[in-house]
This record gives sequence, structure tokens and C-alpha cells, in this order.
Amino acid sequence: MLCVLASPRVLCRTFIAAAALLLSSCEAAPERQQMPPPVVQEAPVAVGDSAQAQFSAVKWPAAISGPSVIGTYARGCLARAEALPLDGPHWEVMRTSRNRYWGHPTLVSFIERLAERQSKSGLPGLLVGDLGQPRGGPSPTGHASHQIGLDADIWLMPMPSRRYADTERETTPAPSMLKPGTIEVDRKLFTRVQIELIKHAAQFTEVERIFVNPGIKKALCRSAGRDRAWLSKIRPWRGHDDHIHVRLRCPAGETMCKAQTPPPSGDGCGAELTSWLTSTDWRKPGPEPRMEPIPMSALPATCTQVVRAPSVSQTAVNR
Ligand SMILES: [Zn+2]
Repeated sequence: MLCVLASPRVLCRTFIAAAALLLSSCEAAPERQQMPPPVVQEAPVAVGDSAQAQFSAVKWPAAISGPSVIGTYARGCLARAEALPLDGPHWEVMRTSRNRYWGHPTLVSFIERLAERQSKSGLPGLLVGDLGQPRGGPSPTGHASHQIGLDADIWLMPMPSRRYADTERETTPAPSMLKPGTIEVDRKLFTRVQIELIKHAAQFTEVERIFVNPGIKKALCRSAGRDRAWLSKIRPWRGHDDHIHVRLRCPAGETMCKAQTPPPSGDGCGAELTSWLTSTDWRKPGPEPRMEPIPMSALPATCTQVVRAPSVSQTAVNR
């Protein structure tokens, strides 16, 4: 069974254990100005036998059969994750020490195909942020969601022409696309490259939502022209000014995946966006209050089996 569970991509993985859990870039994203911010060490929530502690302690996917996606985006887990290779032809993974480059095979495939689409369009590759942990579940820092292997953060800063060294992947800051202290995109940073990235991502049928800063949604609304159907997936939210958060719908056959209500139809450029732009909510992307420990009982019961299951062995993974 182990050989079946270990995907070809996993076979190629180097053994990179989770180490320093650095500041997460999603949900708790601080306001990042043009000046490189300091790397902030955030105390991880790993109290006792909390779900965060248990899921972050396991370094490999579970050797377990049955449904893979269990629960909701913000309360769930993932039985058989696949690892996104840290380096692909048109992408590279950042903050690799977090060990959050695992996702449902549908998510890994999506990132690979999006990167290829960018390349075929003559656009730069992707800098990929957090996907999820090897068995999903809540993480000790940053994310309220990213728990069932269907969420991925992609930086808005394009992949450079050279590969980052390991240390650079940990320390290179993600620049905000906004002018400091405003909700206006900086046109020197937010260009056709970013617009095409977001549009291309939204055009994948498996993508259900993409969270962006309201200022970025405003810029997309202005630049979209007549082709506006994809804008319905672009959902304004606090933060998300240095990355986009892509969320896939529940994959076919994943019967324990709890689907969300689809986003409303229409381009979302009217009253909904105005309500964001005229409120002060967008000014609250700063560090969220420290997340409380989540008990395992808050997750579907199957997630306890997932987190306690044996790992796919390194022998099997390397064979
Ligand atoms: Zn995210």
C-alpha cells in the first residue's frame, strides 16, 4: 500500500523537515511596505495536544485508505497529500522550512499547469507560498484555512530569472503591491504580469475563489474590459496585498469534502467592492490576535485517525 500512496512527485522529494516556523503570509499578513520588513518570529501555537501541535508534528502523509479530503477549509485535514516539488520548470517554493508544500493532487497539478500557462504566455514563473501540511489540519501560525489541501498562496512578486538560494527563500520579503498606507495599487509593481496571473488562475475550472486585497480587486475591475466572467471568483479580503490565495472547489469523488457556497455571480465590482473601499476594514491586515489552540474535537473525527496513522515510510518514498 505504501508504494501506492507514495506519488512519483513524493518519490523525488528531498527530506526537508519543518524547522523555524516563520511569520505566515496569509490571514495574519502584516502590512508590508516598500521597505523590506524585518523577519518577524511568531510564537507558534503548539500547546499540549492541540490540533495545531499534532498536525505540525507529523512530517509525512498518512498511510491510510479512504477519502482524502475531510471536512472544511478551516476545520479539516488531508489524508494523502502530494508534495509540490520545491523547484519546477516555472516555479519555486518559498519558505520551505515550514513544510507546507503539500496538497491534494488536484492542487499540485493546478500549480504546475498555471506555471506552465504563464510561461507559454511569456510571463515570469511563480513564487509559491504555503499550501498545507503533510496531513493538512490547522497550522501553528498564520492560516485560519489551508487545512484540506485545496488552498495555496502564490506571491504577486514574480519569480526572478535566477533561482533563490535556500536562505533567500526564507528571508526574501514579499513586497506589497499597494502604495504605502493606501488602498491603491502601485502601478510600478502591479502590472500586466500580476493581472494576467490572477486572470489565468481564475480561468481554471477547479478554482472556486481567489482572495485578494480590495485595492487589487479594484484595479482588476478597472482593467478587465469586456471579459469579466472570471472576476466573480476574485474575492476581496483584508491583507492579501503581497500574495493571492487560491482556493479550489471540492474535487470530484471526495465525498467527505464540505463544499462552500459558490461566490455570487457577477463581477463583484459594484456594491460589494464599494463597501470594502468605503470602510476601514481593509486597514486591518496587521497581525491577527494569536490563534487559540484548537482541540482535536473541533475537527471531524476521521482527522484523529489521519493524524495518528503511520507515515508513508521514507523507504517507500525514496524507492
Ligand atoms: Zn492563504
